[in-house]
Amino acid sequence: MNCDGYMAHISDFCERKLSPEKVREVEAHVAVCPSCAAFHRTAFEITCREVAELYEYIENTLPPEKRAIFERHFAVCIECKNYLETYRATMRMSADALKPPANDELPSVSEDFVRSILHRRRQG
Ligand SMILES: [Zn+2]
Ligand SMILES: [Zn+2]
Repeated sequence: MNCDGYMAHISDFCERKLSPEKVREVEAHVAVCPSCAAFHRTAFEITCREVAELYEYIENTLPPEKRAIFERHFAVCIECKNYLETYRATMRMSADALKPPANDELPSVSEDFVRSILHRRRQG
């Protein structure tokens, strides 16, 4: 594998997608090519497996240095980026489901309306 091959495979390098043989080819190139190795270290400072534990990233509880590491990985790893987006969408959906109904969205009842109901009841 050459540098072009490396770059072509990098967005697929994610363990979720690439076959073990291809992962080995990519790693073999990184082992002999300093410029790709430098790039690789930046992008894969965390592994795809660590990205799977991205709850803290979503919750913004990570220190900025660690967030930057995640972001560098997402910049090259399409699979993890998709995973992040799916995860976020799921979190949003369950958050919406847990949210109590907003009271201030109820139409306000005017005093006149209440009076007219009470009036009708008395007549009723
Ligand atoms: Zn290279
Ligand atoms: Zn990944």
